[in-house]
Formats: sequence, C-alpha cells, structure tokens
Amino acid sequence: PRQFFVGGNFKMNPTSREQKENIVKILNDADVDPNTEVVIAPPSLYILPLANILRKDFKVAAQNAYIKTSGAFTGEISPAQLVDAEVPYVILGHSERRTLFGETSELVAQKTRAAIDAGLSVILCIGETLVEREAGQCTQVIEKQLQAVVQVTKEADWSKIVIAYEPVWAIGTGKVATTAQAQEAHSDIRKFLRQAVSSAVAENTRVIYGGSVTAGNCSDLAGQPDVDGFLVGGASLKPEFVNIINSRR
Ligand code: 13P
Repeated sequence: PRQFFVGGNFKMNPTSREQKENIVKILNDADVDPNTEVVIAPPSLYILPLANILRKDFKVAAQNAYIKTSGAFTGEISPAQLVDAEVPYVILGHSERRTLFGETSELVAQKTRAAIDAGLSVILCIGETLVEREAGQCTQVIEKQLQAVVQVTKEADWSKIVIAYEPVWAIGTGKVATTAQAQEAHSDIRKFLRQAVSSAVAENTRVIYGGSVTAGNCSDLAGQPDVDGFLVGGASLKPEFVNIINSRR
C-alpha cells in the first residue's frame, strides 16, 4: 500500500515571520493522521527557520533546486546544499516554474536526476493546460512531461519520486478536477510508468493531485483508488490544511 502524502506548497507566501509562525502553530497543534506523510514547502528563506519550530513528524521541502552542485549560478540553490541542510524533499517542475520561468521538461528532468543523485526526494509536478485538455491532448502532454524524466531516471530509485498531477487550469482557480478527471489522469500516469519503467514502479509510486484542493473537496478525491494524496497551494496556508491532511480519516 502506498503511504498517503500531503504536501503544502506555500509558493511565495507568507510575507512575514508572524504569519509564518501562525501557520506553524496551526500545524503543531493539529491532531493529524499518523499514517499520512506531511511535507511543507515554504520559500527557501524560511525552510530552515520553519523546520526548527515545526514538529518533527512533518518534513520540509524546497520549491526548486538547480542541476549543479555549486558555483557561479546566482540566485540558485543546489541539491547538495539542501541535503547538507537536511531538507529531504524538493518540488520540481511546478507549472509556475514551467510557465513563468521558462523551465522545459528537459530541464525539469535534469533537475530531477540531479536531485535524486544528491539524495533528495522529489515531488515532480506535471499537468496539462485547459487548451491542451480541450484539444483532447491530456494524456499525451502528461506522458511527454514524464517521458523526459524517465529518459534520464530509468535506473534511478523511484521510491524517491512522488508525482504530482496538477492540471494548470485547476491551480489557484477554484476549479478543482472532478474525481473522475483526477482518477483517469492518475490511472494514465500509472499505466505510463508500467510501460516506460516497470510494473513495480507503477504500483509503488505515489501519484498525488494538486489544484484547488480544499477541505470541502478533498475526501471524495482521496477516495479514488489512484489518488495517493495532495499537493495543496492556497489552502495549505489556512487551518483547513489540517482537514486535508486528514482527508482519509
Ligand atoms: P492551489 O491549491 O492554490 O490551487 O495550488 C495548487 C498548487 O499549485 C500546488 O502546488
């Protein structure tokens, strides 16, 4: 059985230490399902201060990392630095990185490989735009994004990868995927892994859903056989994040 996984992607929030401490207090006081793996991804500036005050059964993640170990790469953080700082996870390939910062599937694949080689676990984000979905290209787009990664990580330790299916049209829009849409995409992802990597990887890899997840819609989604958790944006900054963590309870 795959362990249920809930990630909180804070994106470029919060904007003050006070807000950060408020969120941590909500999390630290929460009664959470001990069977769920919880990972919080604050802006890089806050990862370590937050890890220091966060209860130890919650893990932290970076929201990005570069492909190199060190050197003249102004503004970047390396996988080796994250490992040295005891940050276990990194989010890679988020749609905001792809669209706003021009990250290609090939770069995301290289980053995934570099992160795994350094010893990090990766939350790998993929997903189609509304135009692509309406053109019937959903499966094709997801497979292409995954194929780039498989090409450079086929021999890698896939227990280090969590795949986050985040349809771009659902991110920050309040338009959550239906349970059927999420289940279909997750099942497609597993089918692809079976054919492109192995049936063990297909069976064991967590595939989580992201895009307008709330306390109100999480339980139905969490009940789908191929939905192994969530990557939560906006709602991860609010008390309802605790309900999302507990959505399988
Ligand atoms: P929202 O939950 O705000 O839609 O964001 C989802 C997301 O992008 C998580 O990475």
